Amino acid sequence: MDCKYIWLNGKIMAGAEVQMPFMTPAVHYGMAVFEGIRCYRAANGPAIFRLREHIERLYKSATVLGWRELPFSVGQLIEACLETVQANGLEECYLRPLVYLAGGGWNLNVDAGQAHVGISVWPWNAYLGPEAAERGVRANVSSYTRHHPNVVMTKAKIAGNYPNSFLAKTESVRLGFDEAIMMDAQGLVAECTGANIFIVKGQRLLTPPEAQVLEGITRDTVMILAREMGLEVSAQPLSRDQLYMADEVFVTGTAAEIVGFREIDFRTIGTGRTGPITRKLQQAYQSAVRGELPRSSEWLTYLPRK
Ligand code: PMP
Repeated sequence: MDCKYIWLNGKIMAGAEVQMPFMTPAVHYGMAVFEGIRCYRAANGPAIFRLREHIERLYKSATVLGWRELPFSVGQLIEACLETVQANGLEECYLRPLVYLAGGGWNLNVDAGQAHVGISVWPWNAYLGPEAAERGVRANVSSYTRHHPNVVMTKAKIAGNYPNSFLAKTESVRLGFDEAIMMDAQGLVAECTGANIFIVKGQRLLTPPEAQVLEGITRDTVMILAREMGLEVSAQPLSRDQLYMADEVFVTGTAAEIVGFREIDFRTIGTGRTGPITRKLQQAYQSAVRGELPRSSEWLTYLPRK
């Protein structure tokens, strides 16, 4: 991924100059936390969606992983995100802040290492392919189980959690599916490899409870938008066959946005195309991120005008 400019420990640097030393403990042990954020071309110029919530989650992820202090504050990292997007001259992009164990800690003690922080940005539009939002995608229930929360912390966005997602996604794609649905250690529906999952039953939206999944910011946005549309929303345990019997199934994530599943484990979901409630939520979400809803102003941080 080519990034023109990267913000590293307080300074904007040419992307080509940022090289990670081989002896970086984060690379060896997965000791890093990160965020995935998006900047959209909104009504009054480029704006970052729910920036504060993402940076606050980054902080919480770092705390969960054991860091007691980081070298930059939430406010400084918010400013740094805006500065990085501006330096790269992009109006629509994906932002990737990363806090990583840069030195020390070879004895597996986080207190013995130093945290460094970087932010990169790049254009990234269709995470599940260009037609995904229109047609819906095909998924299977993975043969891999999602992490148990007492093994690694499922609610923090820790780099070392993602080999579990890679195992599942790679297997599903090799089998000919677009995405993997992961069950938790109890055998109930957890989430997808990089997105939360919802089912639609009549006028109700159901999604697995927070305890074992990443509390997605898109998940939260969709819950708010759905309630405003008069839908009933509840977080409750879901079984594999509830997916098969749902009217609609969709996933939510910063990269994926909202994508419907037209088929799961070779069973057609609903009418076999993106359903009407998923479509309504997709439209409301696009209006929200583009500054077209009254609530958008609470959620958007506009880039300062040059
Ligand atoms: N679950 C997992 C495992 C993820 O990686 C992501 C992407 N961050 C999500 C859910 C969705 O979170 P968000 O809506 O905040 O992007």
